[in-house]
Amino acid sequence: MIEHNKIYIDGQWVESSGDGISHLVNPATEEVFAKVPMALPEDVDKAVRAARRAFIPWSQTPAVERKAYIDAICEKLTERKDELASLISQEMGIPVHFSMGIQVMGPISGLQIFANLAESMDEVTEHDGGYITVKEAVGVCSFITPWNFPLFQVIAKVGPALAAGCTCVLKPSEQTPLCTFIFAEVCEQVGLPAGVFNLVTGKGSVIGDTLSSHPEIDLVSFTGSTEVGIDIAKSAATSVKRVCQELGGKSPFIIAEDAPVAKAVKYVIKDSMFNSGQMCVQLSRILVHESQYEEALEVAKTVADSLVVGDPTDKGTFLGPLSSMQARDSVVRYIEKGLAEGARLVTGGPELPEGIDKGAFVKPTILGDVNNDMAVAREEIFGPVLCFIPYKDEAEAIAIANDTDFGLSSGLWAEDKDTQMRIAKQLRAGQVKVNGPAFSFAAPFGGYKMSGNGREWGASGLVEYTEEKAILTGR
Ligand code: NAP
Ligand code: MG
Repeated sequence: MIEHNKIYIDGQWVESSGDGISHLVNPATEEVFAKVPMALPEDVDKAVRAARRAFIPWSQTPAVERKAYIDAICEKLTERKDELASLISQEMGIPVHFSMGIQVMGPISGLQIFANLAESMDEVTEHDGGYITVKEAVGVCSFITPWNFPLFQVIAKVGPALAAGCTCVLKPSEQTPLCTFIFAEVCEQVGLPAGVFNLVTGKGSVIGDTLSSHPEIDLVSFTGSTEVGIDIAKSAATSVKRVCQELGGKSPFIIAEDAPVAKAVKYVIKDSMFNSGQMCVQLSRILVHESQYEEALEVAKTVADSLVVGDPTDKGTFLGPLSSMQARDSVVRYIEKGLAEGARLVTGGPELPEGIDKGAFVKPTILGDVNNDMAVAREEIFGPVLCFIPYKDEAEAIAIANDTDFGLSSGLWAEDKDTQMRIAKQLRAGQVKVNGPAFSFAAPFGGYKMSGNGREWGASGLVEYTEEKAILTGR
């Protein structure tokens, strides 16, 4: 049993004010494997005050020194990569071999990019008209992160905050806090000044409001559901904080008429079933020209049926369990709802995969004959369930793609370069993935519409944590 009994405030490991304990359940085995303390609003208040005291000295630390701290954090996290990959797998079910790349080493490479950007904070720009502009850190930041990419989401926020000179208070998802204890241990080990990074574990329903409304916080950054994101923005409004929201999605993938349909379908099934489909950027609505629709479904079935579901510690596994039994229940309800709405079950379905009798496992499921008005096409399912929707021509494909409340990601496959650009420019989403690229830790990431406000990662991610000051000089 892994047991943590302290949270990290002002450079010290301290007990939480309450005696609540959160029990973490491995979704593959349904067994409790770790315990962590639950903080209360008074702990958040202490952490925020520590972050406030640390802010001026940290923001005035030369950028080259902040870079050195972040470099050192990257190094120490890398030393613990095996432990991180395994803990994240146990918390939320991703196969360990995938966890190492996307959950651990990828985000560390993103953190290295922020280290390298830190010195850009010192830039002074002279403008015509007798003024200069400089960049400064926004201030004290609070972070609320989800369970589907536990370390990734933390680094997307803490990385640019440290590079800019901000101080922070982090509340990870109650389901996936273990990697954040390692992050705090690493901050302590590299000698990050007290109060610059603080960790409070606990329930969003108990401490979330303090994290979004506290008057000493200048910026709140949240990744999670649209519903909670809206509440956070409302609670942050009275103290006029900067609010960064990375919320849900229902992203389209257009297979153009000229595309090699089998290749495109193979790509999108694997991309969208990754992490058992628990991705805000999942390309979950697959739009196929009516002339290629039946062929696309055949390929989809073959590819989905070939994906191995099972033990996340096994190198041959493609899909581990969903993150929790509640997540499984919710996804199964969506599959049943889709079938009740008239979708065709191409493969998969609500039952446990063959040979598995416990755990939060779901069969890779393909729904055909979906129209864009069905709940399964409008709401985020957050599981290995994809909807195939036919279209008549390019204009209709784009209209269906954009007919959604969300706008986080999107994708397309087309051979012709002009077609690629023509479609990509019309999709109302923060990213468009053309012909199957890898995730970029440098490219701006964020949502249009109900998918959020702001951008994360790379240089655009740093801008979120930056105030621009104009200095105007008279005679
Ligand atoms: P969630 O329920 O919104 O939870 C996210 C975080 O918010 C957790 O830390 C949670 O704490 C906390 N929280 C819950 N209630 C709160 C409240 N009233 N006030 C403040 N914080 C509160 O989302 P989730 O179920 O963990 O994650 C899935 C969602 O995240 C999906 O909708 C997905 O699309 C979205 N997501 C978006 C991105 C992106 O970059 N756009 C990335 C990943 C996920 P507890 O754990 O204690 O409940
Ligand atoms: Mg939740």
